[in-house]
Amino acid sequence: MSTTAESETPAKKPPKQEQEPAKQEITEVGDNVLRLELDISMPGLGHVNCYALTDRDGVALVDPGLPGPKTYDTLVSRLKQANLAIKDVHTVIVTHSHPDHFGGAARIARESGAKVVGHANFSFGPAPHHDHDHSEASVDDLAAHDEAEVHDEEALEAVSKAVVSNYVASTPSRRSKGTPWGGESAKPPMRMLLKWRFFQLIGRAKWYPEITHHVRQGDVLKLAGREWFVVHTPGHTEDHICLHDPESRMFVAGDHILPTITPHISGISERIDPLNAFFESLDQVAEIRDVENVIPAHGHPFDDLAGRAQSIKEHHFERLDKIKSIGREIGPGTVADFSHKLFKPRSWGAMAESETYAHLEHLRLTGDADVYENKEHKLIYTTG
Ligand SMILES: [Zn+2]
Ligand SMILES: [Zn+2]
Repeated sequence: MSTTAESETPAKKPPKQEQEPAKQEITEVGDNVLRLELDISMPGLGHVNCYALTDRDGVALVDPGLPGPKTYDTLVSRLKQANLAIKDVHTVIVTHSHPDHFGGAARIARESGAKVVGHANFSFGPAPHHDHDHSEASVDDLAAHDEAEVHDEEALEAVSKAVVSNYVASTPSRRSKGTPWGGESAKPPMRMLLKWRFFQLIGRAKWYPEITHHVRQGDVLKLAGREWFVVHTPGHTEDHICLHDPESRMFVAGDHILPTITPHISGISERIDPLNAFFESLDQVAEIRDVENVIPAHGHPFDDLAGRAQSIKEHHFERLDKIKSIGREIGPGTVADFSHKLFKPRSWGAMAESETYAHLEHLRLTGDADVYENKEHKLIYTTG
């Protein structure tokens, strides 16, 4: 996942639990549910939890880590520690379309014949930089060049980073260039573009999973010998799912609800108000009353699902209030103007603007902000 752009982070804080490096030790977090930690190095994150749900037929894996042989080898050795092997994997569940969650799925499916479960809307999205018209060489040339030069692991790790970094904010623009709010797109360096094209043309076939079993809200999956309900939770991504087992009172949270950090909510979405979708998804899971054991994709298990959902909402409410007071202070402003007041300079950029835009649009749609487009095609917001 990508974390929210932090507005205030003092330099010497201890690492958050989501930032801890992956431990080799396997922990049993519930009946027939094991937590396997896999290394990732992404902004704000040190590991991803892959959950192994065992039953008489073998094992189902939730979120099997990043693409690339390094993570895959770690996964194989973690499974071995638990007396399991890839051939035992009958199901892979991917909570959402971020590479630290789907990365291992395609190879596991090829090697074990596992079915791959994801939401019906599962989609990885387009390239990190949508403007393909200015490249120096043809796509085929770039791919051939990269195939010869780049180790696929390196390329795919880079792709993964690209997708969760600032570049994601520059992707599906409603305009032909730039962002929907009229800002500059973050242009990835040429090297990143080369790697992205490598992924599209070669790596995609190798690492991008085919979802063989699409699921929707309320569908039931048999895992760990029990029945788990699919809960569709759009917000962090449109295709995000959580899983709930009323019998064991467990809840697989993915990136929807993490113990101490808030997930990145991009303002660029097919939705008119992605922040509102996230609020509704938080309310939806907060209403599930019998949960005692929440197992997130990053960080440690926790018990208070409703309480954590509420505090994530409150974080966003505070941010909405802050934006309103910024509006009173600066008057009409661009998304960048608001973003620069909201975040410290080291966080400035497309990702911070994307989050700011999500909040400004939410205010506009709830009647607390007005907008017009100026002559430079920038959106100008007034709040207050
Ligand atoms: Zn994640
Ligand atoms: Zn994510």
